[in-house]
Amino acid sequence: MNILVINAGSSSLKYQLINMNGENVIAKGNCERIGIDGKISHKTHDGRAFSKEVEMPDHTAAFQQVTKALLTGKAKVIDDLSEVAAIGHRIVQGGYKYDRSVLVTQQVIDDIYDLAALAPLHNKAHVQGINAAIEAFGKDVPQVVVFDTAFHQTMPPKAYMFGIPYEYYEKYKIRRYGFHGTSHRYVTARCLELLGKPDGKDTRIVSCHLGNGSSIAALKDGKVIDTTMGLTPLDGFIMGTRSGGIDPSVVSFIMDKEGFNPKEMDYILNKKSGMLGISGVSSDDRDIAQAIEDGNQRARLAWDMRTYEIIKYIGGYIAALGGIDSIIFTAGIGENQGILRQEILESLGYRGVKVDMEKNTVRGQEAEITTPDSTVLGFVIPTNEELLIARDTKDLILGS
Ligand code: ADP
Repeated sequence: MNILVINAGSSSLKYQLINMNGENVIAKGNCERIGIDGKISHKTHDGRAFSKEVEMPDHTAAFQQVTKALLTGKAKVIDDLSEVAAIGHRIVQGGYKYDRSVLVTQQVIDDIYDLAALAPLHNKAHVQGINAAIEAFGKDVPQVVVFDTAFHQTMPPKAYMFGIPYEYYEKYKIRRYGFHGTSHRYVTARCLELLGKPDGKDTRIVSCHLGNGSSIAALKDGKVIDTTMGLTPLDGFIMGTRSGGIDPSVVSFIMDKEGFNPKEMDYILNKKSGMLGISGVSSDDRDIAQAIEDGNQRARLAWDMRTYEIIKYIGGYIAALGGIDSIIFTAGIGENQGILRQEILESLGYRGVKVDMEKNTVRGQEAEITTPDSTVLGFVIPTNEELLIARDTKDLILGS
């Protein structure tokens, strides 16, 4: 059975065709600059690839390019669209309505569109992606949506409410939703497997998704009790270009001084802040690490601020969980950046956490990175959101 996984952004559409028999990626690619000009990059499991510029005025046009790439030319992987059993879509915002993945119906599409108020750029693009998929594959090919927020729906109100007038929650549903849920779900499920406790009972896990966007989730008995991202992915700690949590009055202060409107301020906080904003060098961690080696003090400051904020969050979550058994590192930085992992784990030295220096050199592979006598187990677990979307899609179409 082949499942097509779609991640539609406002001007991009990433895809993976996954054969669920061996859970192998058969082909994957990306349509970029949709609505501007258009470019598709496509490659197959056996190394065939192409990249070309082609007009993509909208997501429907992008989808036509995807099906063309899968069906024709030197990098084709299927003979007929009927070889795609179902389509799974990544959806950023599922609001309070969706605590799990569901089959797409018109009601689900309408709900995702309505939730666009909470994630304007993402959810509208997702709806375009779903509609384009229906146009390309017809109504009979089942489609499933997997929400980034769903896994965090187990948070109690005391964790998800903000200390602002209650009427804004009632009127606009302003609260913490949390994101990266698909990733946290994937790596914590794997962690529970490694612990031999698949039902999660009596476990306390802190899951650190450290990428360009980053978040941490605290899980008790396998369920999220708190997470760092909020109404949007801006909350939490310093990321590549996002500020993370700051004193809220800084926002109105800068808007007032610089004459920014809400959109401009949003842009500063989401695209010009974080590691990039502090260092002035780059949002990319490899550039930051290089700049530190070259003696750049602001890159050093950005790095130290991030480590410090992460340590504070983890300390807070250990208090909220009443202890900790395991800590997971995942995503681009979490899977590859041993020094940051070491700094974080060593900050827990007071609790008897001991890093295995040799094992902690691992990059992009699963590993236990603490010593056998460490009181907390540290793991690197590579995330795979697309695979989880494909698994949910398969389960839902098989009715399990
Ligand atoms: P996103 O999915 O949010 O775009 P990723 O999870 O791909 O982000 O992570 C991107 C980050 O991971 C970048 O800051 C990049 O520098 C970092 N990264 C990727 N590979 C490596 C590596 N081999 N060593 C250090 N950092 C890496």
